[in-house]
Amino acid sequence: MTLAHPCALQVLRTVFGYDSFRGQQQAIIQQMLDGQDVLVLMPTGGGKSLCYQIPALVMEGVGIVISPLIALMQDQVSALHLAGVRAAFLNSTLSFEQVREIERQLLNGELDLLYIAPERLSNSRTQALFARCKIALFAIDEAHCVSQWGHDFRADYLLLSILHQQFPQVPRIALTATADERTRQEIITRLALENAQVFISGFDRPNIRYRIVQKDNARQQLLSFIRAEHMGDTGIVYCLSRKKVEDTAEWLNQKGIRALPYHAGMTNELRQKNQHQFLMEDGLIIVATIAFGMGIDKPNVRFVAHLDLPKSVEAYYQETGRAGRDGLPANAWMAYGLQDVLTLRQMLASSNGDEAHKRIEFHKLDAMLALCEMVSCRRQALLAYFGDTLEQGCGNCDTCLEPVATWDGSVAAQQALSCIYRTGQRFGVTYLIDVLLGKSDSRIQQFGHDKQSTFGIGKALDEKQWRSVFRQLVAKSLVEIDFEGHGSLKLTDACRPVLRGEQTLMLRKDVQVAKTKRDKYEK
Ligand code: ADP
Ligand code: ZN
Repeated sequence: MTLAHPCALQVLRTVFGYDSFRGQQQAIIQQMLDGQDVLVLMPTGGGKSLCYQIPALVMEGVGIVISPLIALMQDQVSALHLAGVRAAFLNSTLSFEQVREIERQLLNGELDLLYIAPERLSNSRTQALFARCKIALFAIDEAHCVSQWGHDFRADYLLLSILHQQFPQVPRIALTATADERTRQEIITRLALENAQVFISGFDRPNIRYRIVQKDNARQQLLSFIRAEHMGDTGIVYCLSRKKVEDTAEWLNQKGIRALPYHAGMTNELRQKNQHQFLMEDGLIIVATIAFGMGIDKPNVRFVAHLDLPKSVEAYYQETGRAGRDGLPANAWMAYGLQDVLTLRQMLASSNGDEAHKRIEFHKLDAMLALCEMVSCRRQALLAYFGDTLEQGCGNCDTCLEPVATWDGSVAAQQALSCIYRTGQRFGVTYLIDVLLGKSDSRIQQFGHDKQSTFGIGKALDEKQWRSVFRQLVAKSLVEIDFEGHGSLKLTDACRPVLRGEQTLMLRKDVQVAKTKRDKYEK
C-alpha cells in the first residue's frame, strides 16, 4: 500500500486529533486525492466522514456533501467548527439572509465543506452557484437512498446524476452503511459510478457470537439461554408482535428475570420511561418489537435474542449489532422454526405493497432463511451478504463451534413432495405429516387419503423430524405456501429434480430438538 499523502496524515493529526487511519480510510482518501470516484460501504460508526472531510481539506476548493438528514448536517457542521474547519450547510431551516451569507462565503473561497440537502440540487440557483466556485469533490452520504431496493428511497437522490453530467472532472465519493449486492449495483448504475473503486469493509463484529437454534418451546429455550449464560446481564429480546412482547416480558419477570416491554402500541410516556430505564440501569432486559433500537447506543448489551425471525439479513445484522458495542464478548441468539417462515411469508403475501416491492421482500426473506439453514460458518455468509469477506470460518458461531450434522434427506423429501402432490396440494404441514405417519383420523378417511400411496410411508421419521424436513423444503423454496388456500403447501418448479431423484438433498440434522426436550423439564 502506498504511504498516506503526507498532508492527509497531517490533517488527520492536527485537525482531527487522531494518530492513524482506521481500516481502509487511507486507501480511500488516496483514491480521492488522485481524482478518482469511490464507493464506500462501511457500517455505521466505521469512520466514513473522514473519507471525504480530509480530502476536502487537502484539495483545492470546497467539498460539497449531499446529505438527506438535516439534523445530522447540523451536528456535523458544529463538530467541524469545533475542530476549526470552515464548514456550513444549506437547507430549508435557514433564512434567506443566512443563505445569502453562505453563498457569499462559498464564492469567496471561504469554505472547505458545504453540506447540502439533495432537493436543492434541482434548483437553478444552486447550479449557477456551483458553476462559479471551485469544487474539490462531491460526497454523497447515505447513498443507498438512491435505491428502490432499500427502505429509504428518496426521489431527490435521482437528481444526483446531474453532478456527474455537469461536473465530470470533479471526483465523487458515495457512502453508505447498506451494502448488499442489489443496493450496491443500483447505486453504481443510478449515480453513474461504473468507474468508481468500491471499498467494502468493517462489517465484521468479531466479538459477537452468532447462534441460531431450532425452535422448540422458544420461551423456555430463551429462559435456559439466559440462565445458563446471562444472569444479571443487559440484553434485548426481539419479538414480532406486541402481544408476544408483553407476554414474554411478564413471563420473564415471573421467572425472576427483570424485563421491561417496549413496543409502538404503548403510550409514549411508558415507552420513554422503559427505554430510559434500560439505558440508565445495568442488568435489565428489554423485550421489544423492532420499534426499539433506532439510535440506541448502550455499549454493554451482552446479548440480543430473537424469538421471531427478522425479515431480512440487514435487519438481523442491525438488530444483533446492538450487542457488544464495547467490544467484549456478546451473544446473538435466535430461535427459529417452520412457523416463522409461514408467518412471515403470510404477512408479506397479505401486505398492500405493489408486486415488484413484494417480490423484493420475498427475496430478502429467502436470504434470511438461507442464513438460518446454513451448515457452514454463519459469519462468512453474513459478511458475504454485505460483500465483505472472511477467508476462513470464524470459530465464533454455532456452525463453527459445533459442526452441523447433515443427512441425505433425498428420500424423505421425495416422500414429502409426493404426499403434497397426491393429496392435491390442498393441505398444510400438520395434515401432511399425519398422512405420512399413517394416522387414520376421520378427516383423512373422509378424503380417502388413508387409501393413498403415501399414507404411512414416512414412519421412519417422527413428527419433529418431519417438521424439520418441511421447514427446510420451504426454506429452500422447493415448496411454497398458498395463503389463499389457508397455508396449504404446493410444489414449485425447483422441486422437480429432487422428486425425480436427480438431485441429492442434504438436510440439517436438527440436534437442538433433543437438547431442548431436557430444558422443558427444568424448572
Ligand atoms: P460513520 O459516518 O461511518 O458512521 P463516523 O465518521 O461518524 O462514522 O466515525 C465514527 C467515529 O469514529 C467518530 O467518533 C470518529 O471520530 C471516529 N473515527 C473515525 N476515524 C477515526 C480514526 N482514524 N481514528 C480514530 N477515530 C476515528
Ligand atoms: Zn463461524
